[in-house]
Formats: sequence, C-alpha cells, structure tokens
Amino acid sequence: MIGPTYVKRLAKLNIYTIEDLLYHFPTRYEDFTNLKKIRSAEIGQNQTIKAQLLSFKNEYTKSGKKIQKAIVTDETGTLEIIWFNQPFLARAFKIGEWYQFSGKVDWFGRKLSMVSPDHEVIKTAPSGGTKQVIHTGRLVPVYPETYGISSKWLRSRIYPLLESSLASIEDFLPPETIKQFQLAKLNYALQKIHFPDTLDQSDEARKRLAFEELFLIQLASLSRKIDWQRKVAAQTFPMDKVKVDNFINELPFTLTKAQQKCVNEILNDLGKKTPMNRLLEGDVGSGKTVVAAVAMYLVYINGLKSALMTPTEILAQQHYQTLTDLLSPLGVKIALVTGQKKPKGDKQNDTDLWIGTHALLFQKQFDEQRLALMVIDEQHRFGVEQRATLAQKAIAPHILTMTATPIPRTIALTLYGDLDLSLIDEMPPGRKQVKTWVVPPEKRKAAYEWIRQHVKGTDEQAFIICPLIEESETLTDVRAVTAEYKRLTAEVFTDLRLGLLHGRMKSKEKDEVINKFRVGELDILVSTPVIEVGIDIPQATIMMIEASDRFGLAQLHQLRGRVGRSDKESYCLLFADNMEGRSFERLKAMEKTNLGIELAELDFKMRGPGEIHGTTQHGFFNLKIASFSDLKLTEETRMAAQAVINNIEKLPILKEKLRTSEAKMVSPN
Ligand code: ADP
Ligand code: MG
Repeated sequence: MIGPTYVKRLAKLNIYTIEDLLYHFPTRYEDFTNLKKIRSAEIGQNQTIKAQLLSFKNEYTKSGKKIQKAIVTDETGTLEIIWFNQPFLARAFKIGEWYQFSGKVDWFGRKLSMVSPDHEVIKTAPSGGTKQVIHTGRLVPVYPETYGISSKWLRSRIYPLLESSLASIEDFLPPETIKQFQLAKLNYALQKIHFPDTLDQSDEARKRLAFEELFLIQLASLSRKIDWQRKVAAQTFPMDKVKVDNFINELPFTLTKAQQKCVNEILNDLGKKTPMNRLLEGDVGSGKTVVAAVAMYLVYINGLKSALMTPTEILAQQHYQTLTDLLSPLGVKIALVTGQKKPKGDKQNDTDLWIGTHALLFQKQFDEQRLALMVIDEQHRFGVEQRATLAQKAIAPHILTMTATPIPRTIALTLYGDLDLSLIDEMPPGRKQVKTWVVPPEKRKAAYEWIRQHVKGTDEQAFIICPLIEESETLTDVRAVTAEYKRLTAEVFTDLRLGLLHGRMKSKEKDEVINKFRVGELDILVSTPVIEVGIDIPQATIMMIEASDRFGLAQLHQLRGRVGRSDKESYCLLFADNMEGRSFERLKAMEKTNLGIELAELDFKMRGPGEIHGTTQHGFFNLKIASFSDLKLTEETRMAAQAVINNIEKLPILKEKLRTSEAKMVSPN
C-alpha cells in the first residue's frame, strides 16, 4: 500500500507502524465547512463549492509558466478555477463529474476565480448516499508537512486506516481512569483528532490523547522507580568522613553551598543498601564534575571502582583531563576508553576509574570490575538508555546522572520521576556573565560590522547559529544554515574565514571543521544547534543566534554557554524577526538572567498549554500532543498512574502498551 519512497520519508518522521501513523496528529484544521453555491461565494473566504466540471485545460502564461484552468458549474452559475504548475491535474479530472472544491475565491486578473483549491471527486458510497469527503467541505486536518509528505497524502492514507482498524483497537486505559477523568475512548479520540466534525470533538480527542501521553510517561517512571527500589546495591561501603573532608578542603576552591548540599545528598545515598539513582542538575560551569569527583573518591578509598560515561568522545577526553588533575595525585588510576582507543589488557584490573562513551557499557571485562558507582554525564536525555540497560539487573551500582539541561521541577518529576533530584542552583563566585542583547532587524548590518571588528585579525571567534538545515514548508522564514553560510561568505563577511557545521555532516567532516575552528583557522563557525553539546572553545567570544524566538530559553541558554569560557568578555546576540509581545519578552529575559533553571521555569510559565508544539518547545522533550506546562494534566496523570501502578499485572493491555511506549521513550531522537 505504501511504496518504498514513502516508507523512507515516513521513517524520517519516526513512523514505522500503523499505530505510528494513527498517532501522527494534525497541528490544525482548515475550516472548509462553509458550503456555498457559486452565486453566493464570498470573496477572500475559505469555502467549499460543489460543482460539475465543464472544461479543463493547460495553458502557458507569457512568462512560460504552466497554468491550469477549469470551468465548473452548479445550478446558480459558473466559476473559473485555476492552479499553477500542476499539469498532472489533467489526468485527475473528468468532464461531467461532480467535485467539491475548497479554498478561497479571489480576483485573478479581472475575473473572480477560485485559486489552487483542494478538490475531491464526489463518489457514491456502496451503501448509497455520498461517500465521506476527507479533503474538502469539512474540517480538514493539516499535518506538519515535512520530508515530502503532504497533508493530502496523509489524509488519504489515514482515513482508510481508521476505517479498517478502529473497531479492533482496544482502549488500554482502565475504565475507571476513563470515567474518573471524563476522557474520550481511544477509538473515538483517534477518529476525531484526524477527522472531527466540530472543533469541540477535536478538543475532546486532544484532551484524551494528551492525557494518555503524560500518563504513560508517569507510569513508566513510577514503574522504573518501583523496580529500582527492589534492587540491591552492588557494593556497600562505609563513609570515611575525615578523608572525604580532607579531600574537599584540599580543593583549590571552596565548594559553593549548593555543591556542598549535593555532595551531602550523594554521600548519604552511597551508604545505603538500595543503589542510588540520582539526577544532579546544574548549569554548564556550575561545578558538577567536582561533586561527582568527591563521590568517586569515596569509592576509591574503599577499594572499589567507578565509571564515568559521556555522550561524546570529546567530552570523555575533557573529563579525563579534569579528573586526572583532581584525582590522580591521590593515587586514583584512571583509564580513558573510547571507540578508537581501548586500554591495554593487563592494565584493566588496576583501573579505579573508567571514563568513556557508552561503548564502555559493552566492554566485556567491564562487568567483572568491582563497580560501585556509575556516573552518567548525559547533557540531554541520553542517560535514559544507559539506565534502562542497567535496570535489567537485580544488582546495580549506584548511579549518578549529571545533566546541564535546566529541567523545571514539575517536568523532572514527570519525566525522571524515578530519580532523586539534586540541584546546583548557584554558580561559583566571580564568573563573568555573557553580555546578551536582543537585536532588532534594523540593527542587523551594524551587528555584522560589530562582529567583524571583534574577530578580524584577532584571536577571538564567533558562532552564528541557524535553527534548521533545510528550508521546510512550515518554517519557510527560517534561514537554512547552508544558504546562510553561502550568503554570509559571499555577501557579508567576504574578508573573513567561515566554516559550516550541521548535524547531517559525517562525523569526520564535523571533527575537521571543529578542529579548524579550535586552532583558529576559522573566524566564524556557521552552525545548527548541534554545537550545543559540549564543545569547549575558549577563544570563541561571540554567539549570534538567528530566529532566536524559535528556540526555548533553556536551549538558548545552553547555546550561550558555548561562549564565556575564558576570562575574555563574551557576548550573545539574539536575532529575531518577531519583536513583539510575549516572544520578545521571553527573549528579553535572556538579557537579565544568566541562570538556566530560572530561564527554564520562566519559559515554562510563559508558554500556554495550548502552544503548538514543535516550535518554542522543541529542543529537549518530544511530546507529541501534551504539554508539560499543563500543570493540571500533569497532576491528574500522576494521580492516575499512582492509582493503577500496583494493579498493572491485572491490566495486560496497559502493560503491553507501557512496554512498547517505553521502548520509544528510551530511544534518543
Ligand atoms: P559542569 O560540569 O557543571 O559544567 P565543571 O565541573 O566542569 O562544570 O566546572 C567548571 C569549572 O569550575 C571547572 O574549572 C571547576 O574547576 C570550577 N569550579 C567548580 N566548582 C567551583 C567552585 N566552587 N569555585 C570555583 N571554581 C569551581
Ligand atoms: Mg560538565
């Protein structure tokens, strides 16, 4: 039914199964319910006309473009319909058939015409009467159009799929939950999210589907928590307070209050028989590593081993440096394990602390180590996967997950409800703040000039960040990074050395560009947000972000964290097309505060629950339909999950659903 081209395109949207397709939701509806006779068609309004085709022809305009013209009629008059550059339509139309056309009637030249409407033949259903229309004459679902998959294509596949599968879809939510929270049934919700008769119906559907989305996340984290609490710590060991305090006192700086509090929480966990499962959250530069180092040191003085896992090799190397400085003078033996470099065989048993990417987990000899503590530096959400791997074992090491993602507490409770939370909510004293400005469009030129003065012939460098790789229909106003790179090179910074970096480049190409930038062979790196994850280039002092109103504040903050990494004054310039209202206010907050968690909380409050996801929310969490900022829903779903978690063995459909949806949650996107 679906050819290989489309299979590939769908895969890019993470659509692999029938269920995935049914759960690919429209972002809005086109209202074509307004049925009009030709004579009473309103100019400039969306409407639907039911008419018979009198003629159809392809024509050329003076400039050589193809134009399609149809004449249609109903009992009140005739109307011309035009399309541009769609000659294949000739094959779709038959003279004498009746069609529905939905779109706007407008002046075209000196005539009133309907321009590029959606159209659909009116068929007789086998049972008599007319067949359901799906593209015209109703509320028509509009899907985010990406990867060459049009809304029309999706409608034409999803509709028959709903018809054939709805009857057999069982609702996995327990009847009590449905009743208590007055939710729509699953098959009703799936039908009405795609093809509602009224907007109320789509709201009902949305409510149910948002509920189940958060409910499943809550249930998953609750069940992980319960599983975890049944575990036994791989190693238990006493706390040597004197030695640990000595270590802390010997550090070249005093721990901040927040760091000290986190250290205490962690050390307290390490003494327990149930393994620790804790999230250490703190901005880039807030000093998480040293907190982890204290824990590793405690493990070491008890003759046991630790491991530190990172999402990238660059980060593994950075940690290796830092921890070698901190811990090896005390006798801790540290090994760096990366994809390329495996440690030599007989050295392994000596190692007290392993550092590497998640390749580390799959090292054969790794299990044999006396592993007491696993630290995961996840940056974003990668930790979920590693924890899941470990969670399958009855005995587990203590786990500390470090994240620089400023997750508001309510979200942390939902998404990482199985973890205990330690927050470093202050920065070490004396940090320079990155000076941040929101730049209005009329100052763009001046800003370019300002950047040039800073980077030309100096050892300072700049990042320019664009949100997307390719133009896509829904984000046509966003500058694509490749086009922007060419434009900047050819028109703006002709006298400077520019590099291009984006997520679709091969990792070798990426490394090459980053290295060129690192050694100062480039002045400006034009990039997508891929640089967000842990690149450390101290001489980069300027971060300029295009279309910054499309990012979440937390993500902007992380990008900003790529500069200000030396004692040089650093700057962040936020460009935005939309300089009005809330989206401008949000950006203004970037000028005022330098604390990630504050920005995240603010963003969280400012986004209404109804905000279309995928724009401001994109970045950290991929909710399809629910919103974490819907506090009531978050609360309700947590209650609902708590109510069923102990009965889950008696709810096989729910259990299965949880299993499959967890598998999806785990995969980092
Ligand atoms: P994070 O991992 O949270 O991004 P790091 O642990 O890499 O941050 O710490 C950033 C820098 O701050 C390091 O150079 C570290 O030595 C230093 N640092 C950590 N804690 C303190 C402190 N309390 N006072 C001063 N400097 C600190
Ligand atoms: Mg770090």
